[in-house]
Amino acid sequence: MTFSIHGLAVARGIAIGRAVIVASSRVDVAHYFIDAADVDAEIERVRLARNQVVEEIIRLQQTLGGMKPKDAPQELVALLDVHLMLLQDEDLIGGVKQWIGSRLYNAEWALTAQLEVISRQFDEMEDEYLRERKADLEQIAERVLRAMKGAPSPLAPPLPPREARPKSKQELLLDDTIDVPLILIAHDLSPADMLQFKKSVFAGFVTDVGGKTSHTAIVARSMDIPAVVGARSASQLVRQDDWVIIDGDAGIIIVDPSAIILAEYGFKQRQFEVERQRLTRLRHTPAVTLDDQKIELLANIESPDDAAAAVNAGAVGIGLFRSEFLFMGRKGKLPGEEEQYEAYRRAVDGMQGLPVTIRTVDVGADKPLDKPNDRSAREDNHLNPALGLRAIRWSLADPAMFLTQLRAILRAAAHGQVNLLFPMLGHGSEIRQTLALLDHARAELDNRGMAYGPVRLGAMIEVPAAALTLPLFLKYFDFLSIGTNDLIQYTLAIDRADESVAHLYDPLHPAVLRLLADTIAACHASGKQVSVCGEMAGDVTLTRLLLGLGLRSFSMHPAQILAVKQQVLRADTGKLAPWAQEVLVSENPAALLAA
Ligand code: PEP
Ligand code: MG
Repeated sequence: MTFSIHGLAVARGIAIGRAVIVASSRVDVAHYFIDAADVDAEIERVRLARNQVVEEIIRLQQTLGGMKPKDAPQELVALLDVHLMLLQDEDLIGGVKQWIGSRLYNAEWALTAQLEVISRQFDEMEDEYLRERKADLEQIAERVLRAMKGAPSPLAPPLPPREARPKSKQELLLDDTIDVPLILIAHDLSPADMLQFKKSVFAGFVTDVGGKTSHTAIVARSMDIPAVVGARSASQLVRQDDWVIIDGDAGIIIVDPSAIILAEYGFKQRQFEVERQRLTRLRHTPAVTLDDQKIELLANIESPDDAAAAVNAGAVGIGLFRSEFLFMGRKGKLPGEEEQYEAYRRAVDGMQGLPVTIRTVDVGADKPLDKPNDRSAREDNHLNPALGLRAIRWSLADPAMFLTQLRAILRAAAHGQVNLLFPMLGHGSEIRQTLALLDHARAELDNRGMAYGPVRLGAMIEVPAAALTLPLFLKYFDFLSIGTNDLIQYTLAIDRADESVAHLYDPLHPAVLRLLADTIAACHASGKQVSVCGEMAGDVTLTRLLLGLGLRSFSMHPAQILAVKQQVLRADTGKLAPWAQEVLVSENPAALLAA
């Protein structure tokens, strides 16, 4: 039966394919594709882990068997029998083999995928006792996952029966081909997970949680494939291998679509492709408005490999290299100076002489280094990481780490034009400490006799405190870059990663527009360069307004550049400026934009 799920539109376009559910397990599970040559070895890993758990259970049974009959917990003995039976069940291992062999999932992923399938079969059982065995199944799967991780299986007594989950409807259809487009559906994905998936084959993404400018959404957008976040219970409602359509413009997921709906969306998908192709003609067209204003369209990137996409899209430089993605998912082992230097140098070389703005590491908040983006853990700790040790605060708290990064960037600057950008500065003392450390990094390189290049210095304006003390920033920095994603979050007190307040996250709030307009105006008055590198810069519905407010430099995902350029080519800033002033003082700016 066809049904639809509504979420937040984050990346445009239509994707049609089969669902791949990334189950959230209590054990942290890696998801990646293996090489076809490794299928047998991967199946063997599961078999060995399964055998290890079987042996552990048999040993436990023997211990229990040695007890006096009156001491032996009979219920436990019976449950261990059930566990053994489930472990040896062909449905489990057969299914796992199929996910590995036909889809090339890694062993852990295959096991959680098959667990999901069997769990749903349990949900549909009439018999309550059998239905409740699902909890046992989950427990043994966890033991096998732990065994695969090499972690000692804790062999806690089996869980008491748990309440069954809501019923599901159909049988799983396993398709033997991996040529069908795949759509990833997960409860949550950390930005580091997204980066991992960036190298893979998915045609679209859906997550239950996340806001429009959460970092997961940002990486999805940079992959230029349709994506919807904040889709609440999508990962529960959609099943492995269901056909799904993602409408990335409307933020809708259509599950099990009828032939008519499929045909309609197939048509929309082709239209979208035609439009995209048409835009490629603008690649080499200079971004100049009708009244001859030159507009700088720069790219945001997450890795040096993205430089190629930036050049292809006609970007005139990198306006934001989010260096933190080099630091994530490394189990606490941060990249050293050489590794960072190589990465920054690759980005500089990749841009073929165009400027590259490298932002120092901005971890924390919804970009943890390793842990999954686990909101319940945050809430349990009564901490709000968005207000905590994040970005420049994190760097200043660990000067050795920060100096390593600064030296690597300064060295890369010997190979091309590099701008050095600092995130989340809010206080004069932070500015002074940052600049003192930069001097220190230069002195260290001098002492070592190592070559380094000149850098232009920039500050992100992304906390209201910065936007309200601009003279201080203009005194110390060569340019400012407005991070609207955080500026909106901190001005409106709306967690950008929280879908439950996403309706309040408003780029057109008069307070946000006021801070933006004042920052742009202050930079013009002092002859300093200013750009916007938050998601507002790539939103075509806001291009005219930003031009009207005086913005001449925009930094966005490469995939958004040509559509924004099209807006620029049609704009007349002379006419837009007075209109933008009206929008600025309006009680309802959104209405004026829509008019
Ligand atoms: C921003 O806050 O707008 C920004 C560009 O930085 P990030 O999205 O990485 O926090
Ligand atoms: Mg930011």
